[in-house]
Amino acid sequence: MEALVLEKKGQLSLREIDLPAAMGPHDVKIAIHTVGICGSDVHYYEYGAIGPFVVKQPMVLGHEASGTVVEVGQAVKNLRPGDRVCMEPGIPDPNSRAARLGIYNLDPAVRFWATPPVHGCLTPFVIHPAAYTFKLPESVSFAEGAMVEPLAVGMHAAVKAKIKPGDLGVVIGAGPIGIVTALAALAAGCSQIVIADVQQPKLDLAAGLGPIRPVNVARESLRSVIDDLNEGWGADLVFEASGAVAAIESIHEPLCPGGRIVLIGLPIRPVSLDLVALNAKEASIETVFRYAHVYPRALALMGSGRINVKPLISRTFEFRESVEAFNFAVKPPPDCVKAQIRLVSE
Ligand SMILES: [Zn+2]
Repeated sequence: MEALVLEKKGQLSLREIDLPAAMGPHDVKIAIHTVGICGSDVHYYEYGAIGPFVVKQPMVLGHEASGTVVEVGQAVKNLRPGDRVCMEPGIPDPNSRAARLGIYNLDPAVRFWATPPVHGCLTPFVIHPAAYTFKLPESVSFAEGAMVEPLAVGMHAAVKAKIKPGDLGVVIGAGPIGIVTALAALAAGCSQIVIADVQQPKLDLAAGLGPIRPVNVARESLRSVIDDLNEGWGADLVFEASGAVAAIESIHEPLCPGGRIVLIGLPIRPVSLDLVALNAKEASIETVFRYAHVYPRALALMGSGRINVKPLISRTFEFRESVEAFNFAVKPPPDCVKAQIRLVSE
């Protein structure tokens, strides 16, 4: 089958490759429609590795996907050919201890698309477990369906934040994950989100999506904006979605006493946290790794119109332009939030 293959660090090709085609009774076959390009895909392309995950043999990229069911296994009851769907890219071992505990995202044996040595989904057809395949609501397009994967990260962060109605939230980083985290936190009850970044076009875009106050930290002090909004008390919640070392090391600054921090972005090197400052505020710190059990809720929020991810989709490439799409994503213009590849022309 044709696929976008990362041959090795820095080398991509659109070519034929042998992919598993056996379908189990609980699987479905899906014709892929749209695949979002994720920071992790780009990182594998540029560096050939993320932490312990090293690309050692050619690997198909892509994990943020939507498509149409074309075939279902004998035991599949919830899906039929023709259903429009999106897929969770991580398949845990259902018998693992993590899966039995309900934290299947932490199963050490999880097979996650485009995480070496597992192939991704930038190819016309995939076989996937029906249990990790979700029907798109009528009003949700394939392009939006391919945004459920990043939205799920923001949703999981909002769950970990234990948001109370009326909380003031800060999101550091206005990339795709930062913006979907802001949307998820607002849907969960935050009164307002202050979003911080240095790229003005992304901040402007975020500001148009709800009660979101943009702060360009190259020009303005985040803490003083929050002081103005909350009488000098600080923000109830701080979500770190930039992965920038300096931002993480000063994460305590915008937080209120007794507040909660959710760390999402991954820094390129170990960072140090100011424990004295964090202790003095009795800060709670949460971390997230992907997500578990949030696709149905993310789709419900999209379907009801409560969360609109359409403005985040900045560029759409055709499948045959996949290599060009990745070269674009390596150095995207400052107003680009999410680029996608479409495998089916409309
Ligand atoms: Zn992703």
